[in-house]
Amino acid sequence: MNCKQATQLMSESHDHQLTRWQRFSLRVHLLICNGCRAYNKHLDFISKAMQQMRDRF
Ligand SMILES: [Zn+2]
Repeated sequence: MNCKQATQLMSESHDHQLTRWQRFSLRVHLLICNGCRAYNKHLDFISKAMQQMRDRF
């Protein structure tokens, strides 16, 4: 898996469940790749922020 596939999987995972194999390969990629780990955190942060906005308004 390369970074392009990894980021694609990360954004897909917000829309629908990934397969067991997709989750596994994504996790392995995140272990070895700093850039995607940061991107994943960023996505997490955004979705949490969106959730808080929804809760507040
Ligand atoms: Zn990567």
